[in-house]
Amino acid sequence: MTNTCYMCSKPATSREHAPPRCLFPALKYSLNGKDQRVNMIVVLACDEHNGDKSADDQYLMHILPMSFGLNEVADHYFQTKVQESISSNIRLTKSLAGSAVQVKVHDLAKDEWTQTLAFKVDTERLMGVLEMNARAIYFHHHKSKLTTKLSSRANFTLLENSLRLNDLLNQVMSVGEKMLDEVGAERHGANPDVFFYRIARVGNLELLEFTFYGTSRILFDIDHNVVQQV
Ligand SMILES: [Zn+2]
Repeated sequence: MTNTCYMCSKPATSREHAPPRCLFPALKYSLNGKDQRVNMIVVLACDEHNGDKSADDQYLMHILPMSFGLNEVADHYFQTKVQESISSNIRLTKSLAGSAVQVKVHDLAKDEWTQTLAFKVDTERLMGVLEMNARAIYFHHHKSKLTTKLSSRANFTLLENSLRLNDLLNQVMSVGEKMLDEVGAERHGANPDVFFYRIARVGNLELLEFTFYGTSRILFDIDHNVVQQV
């Protein structure tokens, strides 16, 4: 088990950051000069499963910090590094501009509606990369590999033309959040303005929650009943 990849049984050849290093503003892009790259989480990985500097990691950096209602660390990072990086990527700029639509966002907690811009994102790709990160964090946390299937949902992806489904999704997210609150799940992560996670197991269900930039959440269900190889 030692010195093999967090995802597979191949020998590890490098260290992989989870979540990707590029989501954490380097000092020169960091708000008020606060170092947001303290003790980042790394796991051992083989070449195939190391996403550092990959296009997928860049994709996360382009998408995550531009969600609606994030903290000022994300706003500052977006206005400096991320926007510049998006503008220099012609394909991405075109695809975002081409898909921009005005939407109204429903804040369930406050029951408020806000007008904002939405972009089409490649949800499958986004969630796929985030799932890899979930497996890396699981490995970091438990020192064992997660081989069962994961299901995941995020509070920052809106489903088109489906208000009821979006509300439902938000409700499911908050049930998970409450469960983690109730069992007193701790926040892990040395740079919580950028990222922290909580994890707890109740019976055969384990919940893993990622929080990016204060408000963007992804909830992973790990069903320990199901023994399924990935
Ligand atoms: Zn591997």
